[in-house]
Amino acid sequence: MTSTERPLLNRRLAEFGTTIFAEMSALAVATGAINLGQGFPDTDGPEEIREAAVRALRAGHGNQYPPGPGIPRLRTAIAEHQLRRYGLSFDPDTEVLVTAGATEAIAAALLALVEPGDEVVALEPYYDSYAASIALAGGRRVPVTLRPHDGAFRLDLDELRAAVTDRTRLLLLNTPHNPTGTVLTRAELTAIAELAVERDLLVVTDEVYEHLVFDDAEHLPLAAFPGMRERTVTIGSAGKTFSFTGWKVGWVTAAPALVDAVRAVKQFLTYVSSGPFQYAVAEALALPDSYFEEFRRSMLARRDILAEGLTAAGFEVFRPAGTYFVTTDIRPLGEKDGFAFCRALPERAGVVAIPNAVFYDDRQAGAPFVRFAFCKREEVLREAAGRLRRM
Ligand SMILES: *Cc1c(COP(=O)(O)O)cnc(C)c1O
Repeated sequence: MTSTERPLLNRRLAEFGTTIFAEMSALAVATGAINLGQGFPDTDGPEEIREAAVRALRAGHGNQYPPGPGIPRLRTAIAEHQLRRYGLSFDPDTEVLVTAGATEAIAAALLALVEPGDEVVALEPYYDSYAASIALAGGRRVPVTLRPHDGAFRLDLDELRAAVTDRTRLLLLNTPHNPTGTVLTRAELTAIAELAVERDLLVVTDEVYEHLVFDDAEHLPLAAFPGMRERTVTIGSAGKTFSFTGWKVGWVTAAPALVDAVRAVKQFLTYVSSGPFQYAVAEALALPDSYFEEFRRSMLARRDILAEGLTAAGFEVFRPAGTYFVTTDIRPLGEKDGFAFCRALPERAGVVAIPNAVFYDDRQAGAPFVRFAFCKREEVLREAAGRLRRM
C-alpha cells in the first residue's frame, strides 16, 4: 500500500481531473446521442493517403524507431509546405521537428521554454492541454479573454498589453482559434508581433487549423511578421488538415535554437512516434492545392448546415471564420449554465456538445457558451439540427 496521506497525483495537475471530452463522449455512447462534442471527423481522410500508410508499413518504412527529429522526407515536406503556402523558408535539418501530434509539440515547447514561476499569457478560452502543459512546466497562466463583439469573439489588444509583465516569458497563441472560430487579423497579428519584439517575448503559436478558414478570412502565420521569425515556435498537425486525428503526426517549425530546446524535451517524452504515418503525411502535405480547396469547401458547407440549424433552434450563433467548431450562446433559449445544459442535452435532444466554461479560468465568463463540432457527415449534422429544433 502506498501512503494515502499525500494525494497520488502531483499538485501541479491536481486541479485538472478528467477531460470533459471523456465525460461527454461516454454520455453520447450511453444515450445513443449524436456526438458533436469532441472534434474528430466521422470519415477518414483521402484514400490515397491511407494507402500510402499501408504501403509504408508493408515496405518496412518506419516500423522501427524513425530518426529523432522525424524522417527527412517528412521534414522536407513540412518545409516545402511552409514555403509554398506562406513564403516562409525553414531548413528541414535544423528548423523542423516532427512530434506526436500538436499536443506533444505544445507540451514539449512549454516544458522547454518555461521556468517555474514564469508567466505564460494565453488567449482564453483556451484549448484544454494548454493549461495542463503550462502547469506541468511550473508556469503561471495569465489568460486574456476573447469577448463577443459584433457576432465574433475578439481579442482586446489593450488587455493583451496589460497582461504582459516583467515575468512574462511567452505568449501562447492559437489561430484559427478553438473553440471560438476566431481568426486573428493582420492588424491584430501586427500588434502582437510589435508587443513580442518590444517586450522580448517568445511566442508559441498553435496553427493546427491553418487550412480551415472561411469566407474572406485568411490564415496568416505569426512567424511571417517582422521580428517574429527568430522568436516564434509554430505548431502544425496532420490530424485536422487530413482527417487522420488518430495518427498523431504534428510538427514544430522554428529557428534552430528553439527547435533544439523543444527537441531536448521531446526526446524524453515519446522520443519518436508514428513511424509509417510519417511517410504517409509527407505525401499528404504534397497534395495539390485542389485537395486543400475541396477540404475547405466541404467543411464550409457543413459549417453552414450546422450554423443555420442552431440558429433555427434558437441559439445565438457565432459563425466561425475558421476551425470546425461553432460556439453558441444559450441565453436566447432561456438557459444560462452551459454545464447543466450540456449534461441534459443528450436526454433532451439526443445531441452532445461541450460547455465552453471548461476552456476558461473565469468559468462565469464562459458559462453561457456551448461548442458544437461540424466535422461530421452532412446527414449527421442535418439530423442533429432537426433534433435541436424539436427540443
Ligand atoms: C486538436 C487540437 C490540437 C491537437 O492536435 P493533435 O495533432 O491531435 O495532437 C492542438 N491544438 C488545437 C487548438 C486543437 O484543436
